[in-house]
Amino acid sequence: MKDFALIGAAGYIAPRHLKAIKNTGNNLVAAMDPFDSVGIIDSYFPNADFFVEFERFDRHIDKLKRKEKPIHYVSVCSPNYLHDSHIRFGLRNNADVICEKPVVLNPWNIDALQEIERETNKHIFSILQLRLHPAIIALREMVMNGPGDKVHDVDLTYLTSRGHWYYTSWKGDISKSGGIATNIGVHFYDMLTWVFGDVKQNIVHIHTHDRASGYLELEKARVRWFLSINEETIPEEIRNLGKRTFRSIQIQGRELEFSDGFTDLHTKSYEGILSGEGFRIGETKKAIEIVHDIRHANPIGLKGDYHPLAN
Ligand code: NAD
Repeated sequence: MKDFALIGAAGYIAPRHLKAIKNTGNNLVAAMDPFDSVGIIDSYFPNADFFVEFERFDRHIDKLKRKEKPIHYVSVCSPNYLHDSHIRFGLRNNADVICEKPVVLNPWNIDALQEIERETNKHIFSILQLRLHPAIIALREMVMNGPGDKVHDVDLTYLTSRGHWYYTSWKGDISKSGGIATNIGVHFYDMLTWVFGDVKQNIVHIHTHDRASGYLELEKARVRWFLSINEETIPEEIRNLGKRTFRSIQIQGRELEFSDGFTDLHTKSYEGILSGEGFRIGETKKAIEIVHDIRHANPIGLKGDYHPLAN
């Protein structure tokens, strides 16, 4: 049984980590969050210690190390711009680290963290859960077993409404979240490069506070993509069904069915990491390069091969 500490325990995603730690037969010994609405811990690990001040958390983890009861893993569920600092904390405490996506905001942050991995001989793993989705695994096999020179036409649409709170929270602050292509899109760019190969061209058509769209040419695909958190961008016929999210991947005009299969992908991620098959930080680099480039590109507007729903 491995002992875990978790940073960012009061947030939206933390319960999936608590559940994954529990489901994989491990133990949470300590958790930290400056916000103390963490009653959820009782559903999983009522004996875990909880801290709202980082310094007291640090002292506790250090004490455990000295008492020869060190933690084995630190799970990082904090806001994106704090990940690298929280990862360093884990590595320097001789723990492996499991970090939420995007593991960092810029590609060079990965290089710096890999240096500390080498210094400490500990590993950083990321949650790249779409790579564990059965439909995406099947798609990758289809592409790998298909003709080597085939280039697929792909339309990726992910419209997921968020209320006004989003813009007030860290998620609406580009310096903290990286903006919507980074915060919401990173899953998809990771999945696309995992399936279709390296980037040949990355064009941004639109990038505002609530939507982004562009064209990504990969070794084996030409991808038109559109992401939005504004409900108004969801096609009316879908909104009329009471839905606030619309997710679609079309390949050569055919819909890839992947609406189910999202439950327990965090547990699957933990199972992979604990059995030595997790995704190491180096594997996140292509997607982090893409989101960095999108963030710094000058959008060209709706010209050329743009996504049909983008506006
Ligand atoms: P959230 O805002 O709901 O939770 C973040 C938590 O971190 C909050 O409880 C906040 O109080 C805490 N926090 C803030 N500053 C901190 C600090 N200095 N030290 C420790 N904790 C601090 O956000 P969320 O939606 O839970 O996102 C957390 C992470 O999970 C982000 O990196 C996000 O991108 C990622 N995420 C992943 C998925 C997925 O599907 N894999 C989905 C949503 C979010």
